[in-house]
Amino acid sequence: MSVPVTARPPLRVAVLGCGVVGTEVVRLLTTQADDLAARVGARLELVGIAVRDTATARDAVVDVALLTTDAEKLVEQADVVVELMGGIEPARSLLLRAIAGGASVVTANKALLAQDGPTLYAAADEAGVDLYFEAAVAGAIPIVRPVRESLAGDTVERVLGIVNGTTNYVLDKMASEGLDLDQAVKEAQALGYAEADPTADVEGFDAAAKAAILASLAFHTRVSLDDVDRQGITGISADDVLWASRTGYVIKLLAIAERGVGGVQVRVHPALVPEAHPLAGVRGAYNAVFVEAEAAGQLMFYGRGAGGQPTASAVLGDVVSVARHRVLGGRGPVESRYAELPVLPADQARTRYQIRLDVVDRPGVLAQVAAVLAGHDVSIETVRQSPLGDSAVSAHLVITTHAAPDHAQRATIEAIERLDVVERVVSVLRVEGS
Ligand code: NAP
Repeated sequence: MSVPVTARPPLRVAVLGCGVVGTEVVRLLTTQADDLAARVGARLELVGIAVRDTATARDAVVDVALLTTDAEKLVEQADVVVELMGGIEPARSLLLRAIAGGASVVTANKALLAQDGPTLYAAADEAGVDLYFEAAVAGAIPIVRPVRESLAGDTVERVLGIVNGTTNYVLDKMASEGLDLDQAVKEAQALGYAEADPTADVEGFDAAAKAAILASLAFHTRVSLDDVDRQGITGISADDVLWASRTGYVIKLLAIAERGVGGVQVRVHPALVPEAHPLAGVRGAYNAVFVEAEAAGQLMFYGRGAGGQPTASAVLGDVVSVARHRVLGGRGPVESRYAELPVLPADQARTRYQIRLDVVDRPGVLAQVAAVLAGHDVSIETVRQSPLGDSAVSAHLVITTHAAPDHAQRATIEAIERLDVVERVVSVLRVEGS
């Protein structure tokens, strides 16, 4: 016979941070209390909410009597600590303190996990408590649990993700309305999709943190933020977006983690994705992660990657999981790094490129460019040549290559740039997802 929920002592939950996500987590803990108790098997009692300033006006759902600036004391009183402050410190020290005190912890903090996940894992392991972080990658989308648990019996080959909603919104606006990057970023800021300082998003730092987390889980190998080869979208012009569409592609900022020869390769960069690929249809601020596994084949996870409510959904899922473990015993998955695969430099990946060039418009030019490619063992998939505006003397060449080592592609581009017949290399973008 099961023990009634009311017969069990409540589990004490501390929430660190009451901002965009914290407020919605408090709302769900408060308004869904009875359902959560039934699902967990014990009531979840919110014992405190740590903030920087208790005088700040809060949503009506927040009981101001629970607010405190003494986060250190709060974590010592809790069975479950939910960290939603962000940043490295004091989040890191508070989580370690909570773990050392025997609390299970849930965090949405991708920056901390990508920088110092192993320290948190080791502490949780030693204390025998759970460390859950579904919300740290792609907000509401269940992707950490599928990769960490559902695919634990398979071999993941590749993870391709649109994991930053801000940049996806910006690139989508550029494609659908012909805006340039600055205009699209301003629009994203006006709608609250982008921060006043959009650097973390547009330069790819946010996506790189998520790529590191996904790669670690997918390949059972420690991958940190420093291992991720990162390039943001600031070099993407309205012209690039237009030419992508003319040649059957959409530009997306992708987080890519894949098995290579003798290791794994993890990178974030804008890429041309064929219009027919499922990731090409991910519009606006949505996120999606495409996983290729040996036995499962192709899987796609799609949904809202940010925002208070969607992210709170993922956080609460974790809270219920760790709380159930405390009621029923047992633990969730621990760090899996047994494979210890080397993280390969970006130039060892096999990539495809689309290269756009302005060239002198006369016979034999294409042959010269093709000879450079052949000389580097890079074969051409397609070439498109068109006159350059009104110019009778220049032409625009769009060359898409077959897959070749990235270092060979790079060397090819440098050699092409040196040809007399090449006026300029206008743009170089990788092609992914085909
Ligand atoms: P936020 O709106 O800036 O809120 C941060 C909260 O933490 C605020 O309540 C702040 O207190 C509190 N805080 C910050 N530093 C503190 C300190 N030193 N001591 C005590 N309290 C402190 O942040 P958020 O957008 O909710 O994000 C929280 C976490 O979720 C981050 O790790 C973020 O990466 C992650 N995340 C966010 C989203 C999203 O859509 N926003 C999506 C996925 C993951 P005050 O209110 O007093 O300033």
